[in-house]
Amino acid sequence: MTRTAIVIGSGFGGLATALRLSAMGFDTTVLEKLDGPGGRAYTRKVDGFTFDMGPTVLTVPHFLEELFALERGVHGLFEPDFPPHVRAAERITKGISGGPATSRYVEIIPILPFYRIYFDDGTWFDYDGDPAHTRAQIERISPRDVAGYERFHAKAKAIFDRGFLELGYTHFDTVGSMLAVLPDLVKLDAVRPLFSLAAECLESDKLRAVFSFEPLLVGGNPLSVPGIYAMIHFVEKTWGIHFAKGGTGALVAALVKKLEELGGRIRYGAEVRSIDVIDGRGLPARSRFGRRRVRGVTLASGEHLAADLVVSNADYAHTYGTLIDPRVRLAHHDLRMKLARQSMSVVVIYFGFRDDGRELALQHHNIILGPRYEGLLTDIFDRKILSPDFSQYLHVPTLTDPSLAPPGHHAAYTLIPVPHNTHDRAQIDWSSEGPRLVEKVLSFLETRGYIPDLAKRLVHQSFITPDYFEHTLNSHLGNAFGLEPVLWQSAFFRPHNRSEDLEGLYCVGAGYQPGGGTPSVMMSAKITCRAIHEDWLDG
Ligand SMILES: Cc1cc2nc3c(=O)[nH]c(=O)nc-3n(C[C@H](O)[C@H](O)[C@H](O)COP(=O)(O)OP(=O)(O)OC[C@H]3O[C@@H](n4cnc5c(N)ncnc54)[C@H](O)[C@@H]3O)c2cc1C
Repeated sequence: MTRTAIVIGSGFGGLATALRLSAMGFDTTVLEKLDGPGGRAYTRKVDGFTFDMGPTVLTVPHFLEELFALERGVHGLFEPDFPPHVRAAERITKGISGGPATSRYVEIIPILPFYRIYFDDGTWFDYDGDPAHTRAQIERISPRDVAGYERFHAKAKAIFDRGFLELGYTHFDTVGSMLAVLPDLVKLDAVRPLFSLAAECLESDKLRAVFSFEPLLVGGNPLSVPGIYAMIHFVEKTWGIHFAKGGTGALVAALVKKLEELGGRIRYGAEVRSIDVIDGRGLPARSRFGRRRVRGVTLASGEHLAADLVVSNADYAHTYGTLIDPRVRLAHHDLRMKLARQSMSVVVIYFGFRDDGRELALQHHNIILGPRYEGLLTDIFDRKILSPDFSQYLHVPTLTDPSLAPPGHHAAYTLIPVPHNTHDRAQIDWSSEGPRLVEKVLSFLETRGYIPDLAKRLVHQSFITPDYFEHTLNSHLGNAFGLEPVLWQSAFFRPHNRSEDLEGLYCVGAGYQPGGGTPSVMMSAKITCRAIHEDWLDG
């Protein structure tokens, strides 16, 4: 008998789970609230421009290759996860990113430099993973930091080897599983804050920022995120930074196509109102172990859909606080939902402008740091105020792929980290602050010479604020990246992928283990599907 699975949400984690479940033989349906797939990776098409709304920096392309290589009956859950690094490096130098299965669905290419990091004085650092080039730039900015960088590099490599290559797929579902690895992580300096690790090795403020900003791309505060996030430096260096031709949306569309080929389906405009545990007689269904059992879901429209198992790709607080009846969830969730630290949020401005023939002094990925680093981070993450200064990540994909804008135009987005919503007296009123910030940021890009005459050349602008994350994506307090990655919300202390509360309920995505960012949520999908395999298919 074919078993049925429902996945709530079509983010990268939801899609990756649905693909694997279909390959495992489950009759799989994804229920998505929005009118299209991708979640944070939704695509906005307007006035001839294609804007990826969220993720733009693709890393670890062989995670995608695993998904595109799935076949019905070939779930790939337990095969070796990592092809030799050298093969990845070779592919990057040849300008190819995707493996043979990926390239049947979407073209993925490497991007160099990975990022250009602009400092407030107009100087910059091009990060490209080439050791000689990296060292030469460190020498130019702060010659006395060359030896310190070697120390940082060695620590980051040791953390990457243990934390990513060896432990990446560990489901920390018992205290024992966490305690077993803790001594190693302490020894590797992986539990102290990343910024403090960088500051111990490097004296230059500029370099401290260059080698600690990356967790911001997954919602982490460099001042408090555990040093294990130094692995991002190594993940990028080892497998590069990549771009899907046609934008991240083309990659999402390719994953949906693959899902349909495997027999899965997606329903859009299908918001789930509750995860059901009640049987036909109105009684909580119980398993043979006495735990309550998932029966399916009810949509906002009132339609009931039965399923053997349900996987929630929705935000943690939405899943446990809204979709699950409080009478059937365990008490520790109430405490966690009250005490949890949500990740920061973002304002993202999507804009299109005329190409006036002048070459832009920008790269595909640009980080433009403001005058303050630590102070600004404290304003965003701790004080939760909108500072007068800002830093931003400016993405100009038309420098690589002109098809994303009408001829003679560029499409761009710029992302500004801001506090998540608070719903108290300190709450920022985004209806007035949003347009003000947008104007300030766009005029900064013009007056600082990043995009000369931008106001005259602008043909489209739109933006999202934390309210979009809260009300459209159902993310608690408008968090942009799930629960904040702090030590006490990591590993065992991060919500589990197999629910402790309800038999047949699983979770996947940025709010769960191992955490946020597209590679992590694809790892999350594999961890979740391994748990499902163990529960449903083993023995
Ligand atoms: C602006 C931005 C830029 C980013 N840039 C990068 C980057 O460059 N590289 C990178 O690796 N990561 C990046 N990230 C992080 C990355 O996008 C996320 O960690 C990842 O995409 C989250 O995937 P997910 O599987 O958790 O699902 P999500 O994308 O969060 O999707 C969850 C889905 O669930 C749906 N849903 C919620 N509630 C319900 C319900 N009740 N019923 C039905 N559906 C529901 C939502 O509509 C949504 O589609 C970025 C994030 C943001 C916000």
